[in-house]
Amino acid sequence: MGCRASDSWSALLRVVAVTDGCAPIALRPDPRHRMPGRGAWLHPTPGCFELAVRRKAFGRALRMQAALDVGAVARHLGVQHP
Ligand SMILES: [Zn+2]
Repeated sequence: MGCRASDSWSALLRVVAVTDGCAPIALRPDPRHRMPGRGAWLHPTPGCFELAVRRKAFGRALRMQAALDVGAVARHLGVQHP
């Protein structure tokens, strides 16, 4: 998603939006592809993650206009993210 390279889903990290009624909506990594809801897919690499954030690709993939908290995904990938 971030780098727009296509790949098989098994090579990608699934990310889902967890909505509990509060903003910002938190994104959660779903390495086992088990969480319900619409998912976004990216390579489990810091580079692909950063690209996705910069291009606001999560919001597009998840069809969400609201602010998204990507902190949990950043931590999962070992990325320093404010
Ligand atoms: Zn990628």
